[in-house]
Amino acid sequence: MTARILVVDDVPANVKLLEARLVAEYFDVLTAGDGHAALATCEKTPVDLVLLDIMMPGMDGFEVCERLKANSRTAHIPVVMITALDQPSDRVRGLKAGADDFLTKPVNDLQLLSRVKSLVRLKNVSDELRLRAQTAQTIGLQELARVDRPDEPGSVLLVDGRASSQERLTRALKPIADVAVISDPQAALFEAAESSFDLIIVNANFDDYDPLRLCSQLRSLERTRFIPILLVTEQGNDERIVRALELGVTDYIMRPVDPNELVARSLTQIRRKHCNDRLRASVQQTIELAVTDDLTGLHNRRYLENHLKLLIDRATTRGRPLSICITDIDRFKRVNDTHGHDAGDDVLREFANRVRATVRGADLACRFGGEEFVVVMPDTTPEMAAIVAERLRLAVESRGFDIPQAATVLNVTASLGIATLRPHGDTAEALLKRADMALYQAKNGGRNRVVAAAA
Ligand code: GH3
Ligand code: MG
Ligand code: MG
Repeated sequence: MTARILVVDDVPANVKLLEARLVAEYFDVLTAGDGHAALATCEKTPVDLVLLDIMMPGMDGFEVCERLKANSRTAHIPVVMITALDQPSDRVRGLKAGADDFLTKPVNDLQLLSRVKSLVRLKNVSDELRLRAQTAQTIGLQELARVDRPDEPGSVLLVDGRASSQERLTRALKPIADVAVISDPQAALFEAAESSFDLIIVNANFDDYDPLRLCSQLRSLERTRFIPILLVTEQGNDERIVRALELGVTDYIMRPVDPNELVARSLTQIRRKHCNDRLRASVQQTIELAVTDDLTGLHNRRYLENHLKLLIDRATTRGRPLSICITDIDRFKRVNDTHGHDAGDDVLREFANRVRATVRGADLACRFGGEEFVVVMPDTTPEMAAIVAERLRLAVESRGFDIPQAATVLNVTASLGIATLRPHGDTAEALLKRADMALYQAKNGGRNRVVAAAA
């Protein structure tokens, strides 16, 4: 993981110390000795994270943080405040100023690196989302362009063996999450796999159970693998924490739990989970858009050409029949010429609806181009294909097409060509070609009819 980190502190020795630790982990480090320099750096260079001292002459850390968060160009940069251990009120002020997390002085290596890594991971996914949103905006896909949504409440599973801490932690998390509580770690594993949580908090306070066992099981189950885990643990047990982080625990927090710290850490993990979920959904949507025809919502030609090959391979290896039907609207040019292009589009949409309503779920219907549509029918003999094609022809001819654009109802017909896969050495191209030839014959024979290609 590489990232550019800005260290802000008025004491050069503190800057040097943090810089050395981060450089040792291959982070790219920039430094600033006061608030103004920090703001200037964030304005002119891309920064992935700011480590911010609070006590600085002139502009203090709270003000720097507020200004960063108020500027739309820098608001997305995570800020970690460095607070003094004896000043818990600093944490509250820091959170109010918009800080994403805090570290206490003297900064411990393990804390520094786990927090920095956790926030950099979050920034990476949210950057990717923002980038996609920009592209979506550019090409006019409003659905995908919504990105800066307010935080939705998270759903948290708290695994905690003691009633008193269950109650305390639940109360702290209430403003940001719905919390389900469970005392038995094994039951927790099933609960986590059954429901969909954004975060699992494991309080390591069981009498005779190793909490790391639960963490490792959560990491190995398919359904829980990507849920962040926050471990609540004892002070001064760094070896166990390192072990936990190696197992895939996402972050940790020390007892006694500071409610503000718990909220900050939980919020980071919940945000990251939400970002990841949206990213995954957006990839899915992008794939769907790439294989879908805008006008009709049917699959497009690109999808057909790829998927038909797979369907043919499967039919061939299983020795099953497969038929296809190409259909082309008759005299469609006249619709455009007489009623306009928008009316033509209405006809195409309604035509697609009738195709959809006629074929089975297992059939693949697509818009092949212009006013041509293809239906691929697995497990379908030539005789069955002829029946389906005739049914489709009738579905088009029997009822007029409503054209709201032109306030009229049009009579539409279509010609159809069908062809069936040959048992040996047939290809998608050859099959489509034979269906196309049959379609051509249907057109020549007077239109509004079905013609089957010779076997
Ligand atoms: P035939 O019976 O021989 O198929 O005659 P036709 O008029 O349907 O065939 P032709 O291929 O000459 O014309 C097809 C027309 O379809 C021409 C083109 O402008 C129109 N077309 C293609 N795509 C679209 C579209 O997305 N929307 C609209 N409105 N028209 C389209
Ligand atoms: Mg036509
Ligand atoms: Mg045509």
